[in-house]
Amino acid sequence: MNIVPDSGPVLAVTESVRHDMGRYFELAGSQYVGPWYVEEFGQHRLDSGFDLAQLVDCLQQLLADHGSAACIELMTRVCGGNVPFTIAARELSHLRDLLIRLASEDGNMDAVRAIMAMFGLLEDALARIYLAGFLGTLGHRNSIRLRHISALAEKNLLVHFEKHLDWLRQLTAAVSTRDRAALPEAHHERCEFGKWLHGEGAKLVRDPNHYTHLVEIHTAMHRVVDEIAGMIGGTSDSLPLYALMKRAENYSLDLGNEIAMLNSMVIMINYNKDPMTGALTRRSLERVMINQLEISRATETPFCLLMCDIDHFKQINDSHGHTVGDCAIVHFASALRSNLRQSDLMFRFGGDEFLLMLPSTSYQQGWEVAEKLRSTVGREAMAVDVRTVTLRASFGLLEICGSNTSFIDNELVNSLIQECDQRLYLAKHRGRDQVA
Ligand code: GH3
Ligand code: MG
Repeated sequence: MNIVPDSGPVLAVTESVRHDMGRYFELAGSQYVGPWYVEEFGQHRLDSGFDLAQLVDCLQQLLADHGSAACIELMTRVCGGNVPFTIAARELSHLRDLLIRLASEDGNMDAVRAIMAMFGLLEDALARIYLAGFLGTLGHRNSIRLRHISALAEKNLLVHFEKHLDWLRQLTAAVSTRDRAALPEAHHERCEFGKWLHGEGAKLVRDPNHYTHLVEIHTAMHRVVDEIAGMIGGTSDSLPLYALMKRAENYSLDLGNEIAMLNSMVIMINYNKDPMTGALTRRSLERVMINQLEISRATETPFCLLMCDIDHFKQINDSHGHTVGDCAIVHFASALRSNLRQSDLMFRFGGDEFLLMLPSTSYQQGWEVAEKLRSTVGREAMAVDVRTVTLRASFGLLEICGSNTSFIDNELVNSLIQECDQRLYLAKHRGRDQVA
């Protein structure tokens, strides 16, 4: 891995400045305790497994040879130790400030200039290592996502995300080789994903807010790529390039989430519905679940299952009759629906039992949804003829990460549904009118 610029600026200092700097490094070695050092057995050491003396040693070597093997090794270990880039960079700047203070106290302005130049090189080297490491990981993650999508039983809208991932792969490769000519389509309406989004996609996404949101994410990502294109070819470009590529990946993940949600909406239109409540029927549940698991795996985003069941529903049937019971179920279903996102799916699982599938939802978010449903849906009084009936309901919540599952099949689907049902049973067992 080439971590220092081949033809970048080389630190040129006189023998006497070099000697002075050596002294400041020694002094710094005894004074400096950076923010990621921990005191252990009376000694300072880095969390990532090397000590301060080693860092100072390495920096001294850098003074003589900014591409020295010791320096490369140290930088690589910083990255390998999973130290976030911002922390590593902050650490360097703490050390730089300390050295500058020591040199200024001596009135040694030559040394101050040399320290600043040296740390410039060092920061650049650090950013290059992080960028190389990040591009490698991004390329790897991208190919996993692409593999997962190509294995989908029903791709639906994910074909468009697949094209976007292809585009991102080209971008990663172009940045790795710093080849401006290899960059993918720059215009946000002319890349494959953009063509779909501004064409057929515009008709498909009926909710204008959702559509605007999608276009904004996609356009923002292309703006980042414009900046990346501007950076490629420069010499001191590594630091912003690293940050820009991270930003591009975040936008790409956001796009994946949005497409996953749209995909669910398309499924909603295509599958059979229960005539009484308009919810999807249990017959399509396995296929939809398999699809959702695969999407969750391809987009590395969790989703939630939420099983909902009216409490003591038999009593409503018994005291008001079956017709009122039917009305209560319809009322319950429509109250659930009106509290959900367009992309959430609702299945009628049994008589008074509904299974909700919430794409791109973490456990915490799922819990908030469940609590909102419990406290609003359940408590709305329902007018039946001249009487009012108040419903209560219990909820079982399960978070699922497609990326944690090895084999997606009907057996897995059934065991996950069972697990969610057990959560519901727990809520009932604990006294009903609650989430578990
Ligand atoms: P729990 O709190 O344990 O859920 O008590 P529950 O009385 O609600 O018990 P359960 O959910 O097991 O009972 C559901 C009942 O709903 C049983 C069945 O007679 C009735 N049911 C099922 N489908 C329908 C329907 O379409 N309409 C009506 N009116 N009743 C139904
Ligand atoms: Mg019930």
